Amino acid sequence: MSQGFELTVLGTGSASPTLRRNPSAQVLNVRNHLYLIDCAEGTQIALRKNKIKFQQIEHVFISHLHGDHYLGLQGLLSTFSLLGRSKELHIYSPRGLKEIIDMHFSISQSQSNFPIHFHEIDKMNDSLLLENDHLKVFALTLKHRIPTFGFLFKEKKKARHINGPLVKELKIPYYAFEQLKKGEDYINKENDEVYSFEKLTFPEDPSYSYAYCSDTAYLPGLSEQIKEVDILYHETTFMQKDEALAKKTFHSTCIEAALIAKKANAKMLLMGHYSSRYLNEESMLEECKSVFENSHLTQDGDIIKLS
Ligand SMILES: [Zn+2]
Repeated sequence: MSQGFELTVLGTGSASPTLRRNPSAQVLNVRNHLYLIDCAEGTQIALRKNKIKFQQIEHVFISHLHGDHYLGLQGLLSTFSLLGRSKELHIYSPRGLKEIIDMHFSISQSQSNFPIHFHEIDKMNDSLLLENDHLKVFALTLKHRIPTFGFLFKEKKKARHINGPLVKELKIPYYAFEQLKKGEDYINKENDEVYSFEKLTFPEDPSYSYAYCSDTAYLPGLSEQIKEVDILYHETTFMQKDEALAKKTFHSTCIEAALIAKKANAKMLLMGHYSSRYLNEESMLEECKSVFENSHLTQDGDIIKLS
């Protein structure tokens, strides 16, 4: 498994599963921690197909409670139980998911044999959802027919690299390495000599960020919240000729997604959540590229790796 920052796209369709596409689900792997983002029907199979060790998923983020974003979750929880999972699971979603899951457990007279912690997202606390030693996850309020949230994953600053030969030559004690890696100088208390971290270490590797924005109507203000993001996934359900339909259903067109990427100065735009009415995706890509050059179609099973 990757030590870096790696996104696996498990589903790229909208509405219903087809032979070609599952609906929305993705896995973000940050330094070997797995974050599942949306969990439509077919997600379990897609996890297996992509050889993802899904029992290691500790956090699930559900954008909204339309079926094409969460209907695979009950099945996944059931499989976790059948496989004897004991590790706790955190689920972040708009209000209502806990009731749905609880109702299933109640009526089927079953229960999960591992702790599930539900975290309800609402507009009042739509900022920081999760913070651990390597990452922060923020909620982004989107504009859809029901309460919907995007997610911004921001990797924390990494540790600097120790200059091995130099610390050996200068006999820097091992216990000082951690502070040097954090960017703090080491002071030898016996003679008050200061050793600068800049001299004893090499710069850290870059930290990355990922924004998941689906489903949403065109929301120009969104770009402010995801400035300079490394990877932006923004739904491109419709082409420009169907702009009226996009407006009516609170979805975005390719051009609108590309405008968000451009305004945010994102490094890369990933497209997805395609309406099944379009058979030629290349023309969708062309629309995006006419506004934002570094646009990419995604297909089920694609892996995007930053390192
Ligand atoms: Zn959807």
